[in-house]
Amino acid sequence: MYSLSEQDLVIQARARSFADELIPLEVEVELAGGEVQAEQEAKHTARAIELGLYASNMPKSVGGGGCTSLQQVLIQEQVGRVTNGLAWVVATPPSWLGERSECYAITEEGAGSDVDAIEATASRDGDDYVLNGVKWHVTSFNAADYAFFQGKLTSGDHIGEHAMFLVDLPTPGVRIVRTPAYTHTLGHAHQHPIVAFEDVRVPAAQLVGAEGDGMSFAYEWFRFERLMVAARCLGAAERLIAEMTSFAAERVVSGRPIAEFGAVQAMLADSLTELFAARSLTYETARGIDAGVDVKVQHAQCSMAKLYAAEMAGRVADRAVQVFGGRGYMREYAAERFFRELRVERIWEGTSEVQRAIIADQMVKRGPGRLA
Ligand SMILES: Cc1cc2nc3c(=O)[nH]c(=O)nc-3n(C[C@H](O)[C@H](O)[C@H](O)COP(=O)(O)OP(=O)(O)OC[C@H]3O[C@@H](n4cnc5c(N)ncnc54)[C@H](O)[C@@H]3O)c2cc1C
Repeated sequence: MYSLSEQDLVIQARARSFADELIPLEVEVELAGGEVQAEQEAKHTARAIELGLYASNMPKSVGGGGCTSLQQVLIQEQVGRVTNGLAWVVATPPSWLGERSECYAITEEGAGSDVDAIEATASRDGDDYVLNGVKWHVTSFNAADYAFFQGKLTSGDHIGEHAMFLVDLPTPGVRIVRTPAYTHTLGHAHQHPIVAFEDVRVPAAQLVGAEGDGMSFAYEWFRFERLMVAARCLGAAERLIAEMTSFAAERVVSGRPIAEFGAVQAMLADSLTELFAARSLTYETARGIDAGVDVKVQHAQCSMAKLYAAEMAGRVADRAVQVFGGRGYMREYAAERFFRELRVERIWEGTSEVQRAIIADQMVKRGPGRLA
């Protein structure tokens, strides 16, 4: 199915077997409040590296997997079958970073969907830049070796434009303001603190690209991450559909398996149909990237894949809870976990509303016929 090559199938099978190793641990982790012990997490990271699943997006020359976009989708899809807290060890650092782990400090209290509203600043001072700003939701700050900090330039030819900087961690002037609790857990070291950057001095060499380039790096990252969000949503939906199908076949109510009731059949059938559509869309988008389609077309298609797959997974999770009845509301069941964890897929890396705005904008600029 889906015309996957021999190599694609090998990579997919490897990722699937890793996910299958993690799934039996989910309930224990969940009942411990989503906390994975540091030792256990390190063991899983080592296993992901051993299987060639870690940094699959990086070139082989720097120790990565050298995978195509489609192969990365296949890996992240399998990762999506596992609860977040355990699966977060299969990391994909941006291709231009190297092997160390990063975090992104872009969003602020007053700037989320509208990234241009950021108030963080970057001021040139001799051979350095001095960075100031307070960043929200900085995922994996606790585990990161670097932070990508986005601020607006306060002087020079590009005054008022965005620039991105690589900030080593720890660095004087960078501190956690507080670490709020969120709906999901992402494993031991991966939280989303609010982080203050106060007169943080970085050498000019740590400007990513050139002055005024800040947004283009963010766009590249968004495209990649949106496709990976779509991929993980496919895996989550696949897992939920498998769980709800077997439950519906076994659960007997009024003397019949609930899979024989039309209303339950509709929930099963709609879920699989929508997964098929989302998977076809996501794989096709990845193939387009591998074939080098126009970057603006890629941008719109990644938004379509993220929008549709995230919304689809949300609907599937909602139906899964319903099919499981009261059990669907219990923490020890996958339906409850995924229902909670999948909610963020419609919010981060650009909300569904923002994806729609991007798609519609490209439709008007390029014509819908070029995009789909
Ligand atoms: C768990 C988590 C992890 C995150 N990790 C990171 C991270 O590592 N680094 C980082 O920089 N950021 C991160 N974020 C931030 C995330 O990208 C933003 O939360 C997201 O982009 C939305 O921004 P906001 O929260 O400010 O919502 P807002 O922008 O305030 O949006 C509020 C509502 O208004 C709607 N809206 C806004 N603009 C429009 C529009 N033009 N048209 C229609 N509706 C609109 C939105 O869709 C939403 O429904 C994370 C967020 C979460 C929840």
